[in-house]
Amino acid sequence: MVMHTGGCACGQVAITAACEPQTVAMCHCLLCQKRTRSTYRVHAYFPSENVRVDGTTKVFSRKGDSSAYVYFHFCPECGSTIYWEVKATPGKTGIPIGIFADPTFPPPIVSIFTPHKHAWVSIPDGIPQNEAHGAAFAAAAAAAVARRS
Ligand SMILES: [Zn+2]
Ligand SMILES: [Zn+2]
Repeated sequence: MVMHTGGCACGQVAITAACEPQTVAMCHCLLCQKRTRSTYRVHAYFPSENVRVDGTTKVFSRKGDSSAYVYFHFCPECGSTIYWEVKATPGKTGIPIGIFADPTFPPPIVSIFTPHKHAWVSIPDGIPQNEAHGAAFAAAAAAAVARRS
């Protein structure tokens, strides 16, 4: 069985995903740059039922640019983001792939918010370079926001 295991920088929180990711994306948006303190983030989405978290997390939520709320769970000791959930797309758990510290982890299959990319950052050859979220994500988020208002 496939198992991706990782944890935060201080070791207080462990996370396991018991399948391959549904998608892996690199995001260049400015909010991701701010949250990660890096120039882009690379994240994977897994079905939530295959993800297990051990340890204590705190939650930080913000509105994404698609107006969908995102709930980031982070380690209160070391500040590492462990995972997140997007209210508009339930049943999926987003995980920053760096948490697995695994150089063989599957590579990104899409680049999003590409116009905000730092000029020196390279995108893997042959993957789509979307201006924002992919169409499927944007449609799901817009529908969820419309249902609530
Ligand atoms: Zn920690
Ligand atoms: Zn982003």
